[in-house]
Amino acid sequence: MAATSPLMNTYARQPVAFSHGDGAWLIDTEGRRYLDCLAGIAVNTLGHNHPKLVAALREQIGSIIHSSNLFEIPLQTELGARLVELSGMTNVFFCNSGLEANEAALKIARKYGHERGIAVPEVVVFDNAFHGRSIATLSATGNAKVQKGFVPLVEGFVRIPLNDIDALRRIAGERPDVVAVFLEAIQGEGGIQQARLEFLREARKLCDERGWLLMIDEVQCGTGRTGKWFAHQWAGIRPDVMPLAKGVASGVPIGAVVAHGAAAGVFGPGNHGTTFGGNPLAMRAGLVTIATMEEEGLLDNAAQVGGWLKEAFARELAGVPGFVEVRGQGLMLGIVLDRPCGDLVKSALDAGLVVNVTADSVIRLLPPLIFTMEHAQILVERLVPLVRDFLGGAQARAG
Ligand SMILES: *Cc1c(COP(=O)(O)O)cnc(C)c1O
Repeated sequence: MAATSPLMNTYARQPVAFSHGDGAWLIDTEGRRYLDCLAGIAVNTLGHNHPKLVAALREQIGSIIHSSNLFEIPLQTELGARLVELSGMTNVFFCNSGLEANEAALKIARKYGHERGIAVPEVVVFDNAFHGRSIATLSATGNAKVQKGFVPLVEGFVRIPLNDIDALRRIAGERPDVVAVFLEAIQGEGGIQQARLEFLREARKLCDERGWLLMIDEVQCGTGRTGKWFAHQWAGIRPDVMPLAKGVASGVPIGAVVAHGAAAGVFGPGNHGTTFGGNPLAMRAGLVTIATMEEEGLLDNAAQVGGWLKEAFARELAGVPGFVEVRGQGLMLGIVLDRPCGDLVKSALDAGLVVNVTADSVIRLLPPLIFTMEHAQILVERLVPLVRDFLGGAQARAG
């Protein structure tokens, strides 16, 4: 297969193709049904085939898909206003993906620094971070596998461990060229590692004292997934810059960088742009996604169903040798094992579950936010025996 595929060899794909979806279910080309506990990696916020999304997109496609940022795009202004309202921030730039949103954030940080007379601005980043795969965002990423083969990296990053407030304070004392602190409120690819609320508050305080921008990458943990619109809101703080993407438009490609205060005024005409970003189709999808989340109470749903799932997994796996913990919040959960468990993705598929493994040993669950208690029960019933078998079997092989 691989030798004759016309595709570049960038993904080790499972041998399954989905032909359609139905709410939280995916159906493959053979007619088998799978409970979708991944949502296209936190993308399909409303699940599959949501009637409101389908109707709105059909109508939008019949009127206009793309015009250009050289003209007014009323739907862009409308979605921008919604994001501003939900975040308490002031201005938005729309693009098409997470890495693009993060590139825009990094450009804002650099120009912000230059405007303050800093010739080589530096951005503080964190161990195990993931910010994308462009040259700048892979340089900000804290994963040697993502960077391998792509040096020289972009300069201007200083890396410290997540949740290490002393390290951040040390940097404040030692590095006068720092202009921003850039982190995920919950690291996704890094294995569902949460920035502690106290750490976020301290980082906010330090940024205020030093005139640094606090830039929170909410590409994966944002858009309602944790039970608030944005995960940092649990800490009661507001960032200066917030990149978004993944779930904002329920599957139509979209990215956005939301900014507040001085950061919101950094870009002027000619500083940044995009051909596709902010097109009417993606904007309509974003507007319907947010409206439907409100109408159907999906934030509360994510908090409730996710809270139940977290407890259920912790209870069902307690004492099983090799099980470490369940991490995360709302419908962004990681079941942490003490060994690599990539093989579980295949056995889960065989059991009718779509799940993911990240950071080698973390089973990552990112179901659509329409996930019900009924779905959650099916997930636990199917996944717990697989994890128990996997850990027991591995132990037997080792012994
Ligand atoms: C997925 C992800 C990105 C990259 O998004 P793409 O759309 O794949 O470019 C950036 N940051 C975080 C936190 C992500 O989870």
